[in-house]
Amino acid sequence: MNELETRQSLLNIVETLEKKGFNHGSSGNVSCRLGEDILITPSGGNSGNTTPDRLVRLKHDGTVLGGGLPSSEWHMHLAILKAYPHVNAVVHTHADCCVALACLAKPIPAFHYMVAGFGGNDVPCVPYATFGTRALAEGAVAALRKRKACLLANHGMIAAGASLQAAFDLTVKLETLARQYLLACQAGAPTILPDDEMARVLERYASYGRVALPA
Ligand code: 13P
Ligand code: ZN
Repeated sequence: MNELETRQSLLNIVETLEKKGFNHGSSGNVSCRLGEDILITPSGGNSGNTTPDRLVRLKHDGTVLGGGLPSSEWHMHLAILKAYPHVNAVVHTHADCCVALACLAKPIPAFHYMVAGFGGNDVPCVPYATFGTRALAEGAVAALRKRKACLLANHGMIAAGASLQAAFDLTVKLETLARQYLLACQAGAPTILPDDEMARVLERYASYGRVALPA
């Protein structure tokens, strides 16, 4: 993908997140790698006020290349992309069900086997820190060490993927699980799968969804 295509792909993700109702107004932000640099949504940006050229290019030291004000969460995006070379894109949203659970400041436990799709037997919740701070960035980096996404207490969620599409897909899956967990909690006390079962599920996940190609 050339630079313009990457800029357009990032903006398509921003628009799709809004269409799904995951971000409203200018909540949330998206980033991805662009060569040696990082591309991120502008602060206050949404699909209605952002064109591909308004996405902000940052160097790894946080220097803005070519102007524009990067998302207030640039520390968090940059810290994740710097810490994890396998991550190429980061999506942050204020999607309703993730926010509702994040306000309890607790991880999502293994109430459903698909929690394993995030890399372990829970989806952690980063302790509350003011938006845009290095403290929030450090919390997110720690939570994502062994997970693909996490909740941010009293704030939202963040997902880290190998591509923009992968980070988006994780975001959709997490909001779905968050909604299902909220529903289950309303109906009673969900049964939590034991660690040994989650270990079996994790093993299966390692090869799940690989399309078998003809020899
Ligand atoms: P920005 O508009 O600066 O990206 O901030 C939105 C947000 O979600 C802050 O956490
Ligand atoms: Zn936010």
